Amino acid sequence: MSANARVIRGRILSFNDDPATSGASAHSLIEDGAVLVGGGRIEAVGEAPDVLAHAPEGAVVDDHAGSFIMSGFIDAHIHYPQTQVIGSYGAQLLDWLQNYTFIEEQKFADPAHCARGAEFFLDELFRSGTTTAMVYCTVHPQSVDAFFTAAEARGARMIAGKVMMDRDAPQALMDTAQRGYDESKALIERWRNRGRLGYAITPRFAVTSTQAQLDAAGALAREFPDCYVQTHADENKAEIARVAALFPEAKSYVDVYARAGLTGPRSVFGHCIHLQESEVAELVSSRSVAAFCPTSNLFLGSGLFDEARLAKAGVRIALATDVGGGTSYSMLHTAAEGYKVLQLNHQSWPALHAFYRMTLGNARALSLDDRIGSIEPGKEADLIALDPRATPALAHRMETAGGALEVELFALMMMGDDRAVRQTYVAGEPRKL
Ligand SMILES: [Zn+2]
Repeated sequence: MSANARVIRGRILSFNDDPATSGASAHSLIEDGAVLVGGGRIEAVGEAPDVLAHAPEGAVVDDHAGSFIMSGFIDAHIHYPQTQVIGSYGAQLLDWLQNYTFIEEQKFADPAHCARGAEFFLDELFRSGTTTAMVYCTVHPQSVDAFFTAAEARGARMIAGKVMMDRDAPQALMDTAQRGYDESKALIERWRNRGRLGYAITPRFAVTSTQAQLDAAGALAREFPDCYVQTHADENKAEIARVAALFPEAKSYVDVYARAGLTGPRSVFGHCIHLQESEVAELVSSRSVAAFCPTSNLFLGSGLFDEARLAKAGVRIALATDVGGGTSYSMLHTAAEGYKVLQLNHQSWPALHAFYRMTLGNARALSLDDRIGSIEPGKEADLIALDPRATPALAHRMETAGGALEVELFALMMMGDDRAVRQTYVAGEPRKL
């Protein structure tokens, strides 16, 4: 018998492909299903009576009758040091950074502040049903150590990295090209691929990194090809103008990153709202990922992500909260705002497409779909129980859903948040507070 055997019973909903390309065959639903987990992995999935009959004696049974059992949500772009500037009033990107974020991030020089922030952040992700995230720390190496220490203690699959900034930020938040390289390299060697952890080389964006620093980040990406790269691109028009002035020799904002060797299949670019055609082509040819951050894009007044344009061109797309520019930790709420952004672009986003994006789609975007993102034997047991009747308003709404999956999921996505997450399992262990 595997250690910590547990049977999680409910309505098992999982994706094997993108509904946008594979239609109804992209998902499966077992109305009275169960997942057997043990040793941190999924051991079996099927009809509940069958799974229960084959479960080891003494296995714990968690009955989530009426709830969906899904893979844990994946957030492809989020800042853990911004949990106390989320919801700060009245600014667009560049002022928001200077007035709020750059002040807040200076507190992460203190390791105790880092540890407290990391614990709160992970609690909040799990409360919201998010089990994997790609995370920005601050410029301080201790912020990365604190985050990975907390994630490792919880057995969570997390990707993170030290922010690199060597200009246009407060002195206390700046490294240099060399120091950013050296500190990042030491962190990579300490944390990369340790247990369930992955490292992301993290130049914040081209505004706050010199060419020398971007080149140093590119050198790290070449030296450590199993690391990720995360940064921001084409979020806000004033930001784009600043980048054009700082890098007159580059053809575009994305070209600044391409020339530094920072585009590629493990590179995730936050926002990608105002892309030129040549930038779309660069993202496609390099297989880079564009992260759609709807609550942030609306909150900071940055613009409307053009999902249809990028999908048609073949850009790999992820969905993300971008807390604290984003205003919610909940991927359900994020998807709801994403739907509204697409509405303003006269585009459509059926619920199954959005739930695919929160799970297997984001796992694919982060090249983790061999480990997480769907409910299959052998995969890591990061699972959530989502109650479509979690609140009085949801329960009332579901009276007219008629048991139709798409109707239920859409209402759950539009009205749900952390209250709909009945339980979050990380490596098979219940983790929701
Ligand atoms: Zn961001």
